[in-house]
Parts: sequence; structure tokens; C-alpha cells
Amino acid sequence: MGDFPKIEDSTATCPLCGGGDGVRIHPGNAAPPSPEGLRITDAHYGTVGPLFRCPACDFRFTPMKGSRLDDLYAEMEDPEYERTRPQRLLQAAKTLETLRPWKTSGRLLDIGAGSGILVEAAVQAGYQAEGIDPSAWLCQQAARRGWRVHAGVLPHPEVVGPFDVVVLMDVLEHVADPLALLDQAAALLPPGGVGLILTPDVRSLAARLLGFRWWHYRLAHVGYFSRANLALALGRAGLEPLLWRRPGWYFPADYLFKRVMGYLPPPIRQESPALLRRFTVPLNLGDSLLCLFRKPPARA
Ligand SMILES: [Zn+2]
Repeated sequence: MGDFPKIEDSTATCPLCGGGDGVRIHPGNAAPPSPEGLRITDAHYGTVGPLFRCPACDFRFTPMKGSRLDDLYAEMEDPEYERTRPQRLLQAAKTLETLRPWKTSGRLLDIGAGSGILVEAAVQAGYQAEGIDPSAWLCQQAARRGWRVHAGVLPHPEVVGPFDVVVLMDVLEHVADPLALLDQAAALLPPGGVGLILTPDVRSLAARLLGFRWWHYRLAHVGYFSRANLALALGRAGLEPLLWRRPGWYFPADYLFKRVMGYLPPPIRQESPALLRRFTVPLNLGDSLLCLFRKPPARA
């Protein structure tokens, strides 16, 4: 089990800017994190640990420093994630298109690579790709398909830079110390190297309309970014944003159906019709951020 801060703590230090005391905005309604609760496909929206908001940079976070979050991810298994592989592969290929004007080949590292879906898409697109992920089970799924995903976290003895490209897709919101992870990513890039980040946008319209019922408010997410404080974090890691996008997603129709049902009261929820399994639905709710960044080229 991981641990949350004591419920009576009403302030916490911001892990992003370190400035100011974060003010508690939600007491937390989740059981302490467990491998099951951290699944990528977990659908308990609105179930969070104690949440704090930094008055200086607006970062929202559950303080997890010193927790065993990495150990919990090491034990996580997520069979439903594998079932949505075709849609996630499409998503990864689309995401990599953003890189094309900057890098069309070279060494690519996917940080938080899961079962190697983006690694697969990157190899197909012509990169020499590998990944790293804390979940032993997800790494096994990758190996079974012939993709190279190292088990563990950075720094890792088998993950040796420099890489021309690093990718952090849906990972920054899961870590206790996002700044440390950005520093690690920056250290693996040569000057002029580029990277991609995808993360939910807590300042998006959907997030503001839904409040704590927003689908990205969940136990596994312990940090919530806005464009402004993500830019701030990148700057602190010596990285510079090059462009910002609002990416869309691809879902199996039945997956989406089940998630929408989660918003309805239990008595009127319906089972997903089997037919829906066959369809893929593109969806852009405009509530995610994609940032392409680079490590500035060395000055002469
Ligand atoms: Zn802050």
C-alpha cells in the first residue's frame, strides 16, 4: 500500500515550483493506492487522494513524495489495457506525426511505455525505439510481441542516452515528483534533442465544467497540469516548449459506452451492446495537452 498525507494536514509543499504552501481543495475519498487502483483503465472517476492546489503556480497534486508509488506500479497488471491495444496504437501513431517536422528517425525512448504500444508505432514509423515502464507485467506483454521495454524507473542501467527523442505520454500526471522526471528526460537528450508530453489539462473547459467529476480526477493521477505550469516545469528542467496541441483520442465504442454509463445512477446503467466492440470512435474533448519541446541547441 502507498500512503497519503495525514488528513488533518491542510497545506503541502508544491512539487512543481516549491513555492508557497498548497492549499487543500479536496479531502480525498479514495482508499490508499494499490496496484489494482492504479490501473490505466481504472474507471473510478472522481475518486482521488487528498488534493492540494498551489497558490503560486496553480498545480494541483496529491503529495506522494516518499511513497512507494513505483513499487505499486511494479506490481500492476491491466488486461483491459491490452484489449484496447489497436486503438492505442492508432493514437500513438497519430501522436508521433507531431514529431515529423523535427525528427523523422533516430533513437527514441518512451518513458512510461506500458506494453510497448508507442514503441511499436515508433519502430513502424522508422525510429530506433525502446521504452521503460515500472510494471513487470506490462514489460512482459511488450517482450512477448518483440518490443524492448525495460522494467523499472529512471535512472536505469540499461537505458543509456543520448536519445534523439523522448516521449512522456500520459505519465507525468502519475508521478510523485514530475520535475525530477523531466530532469531525467532532459539528461537523456543531446542539445537540440526533442520530446513530447501528453497530459490532461486541468484548466480545460471540460475540467472546469465537471469539477471533481472530471474523468481525469482519479486515484492514479497525483498531479494536474495547466499549460502555464507545464511550461514552467519544462523551463525548470532546462527544456523549451516548441508547440502546443489539443490531441484527440481513439476508443473502442463499447469502452466509451461503459465509461459514459459510469456517470449515470446505477439503476439506469445499461450493459454495452456486444456489437459496439467492433467500432472505433475518434473523440476530442479538448481536455488534454500535447507539448512538443526541445533541449536548446548548444551555443557557439
Ligand atoms: Zn507551485
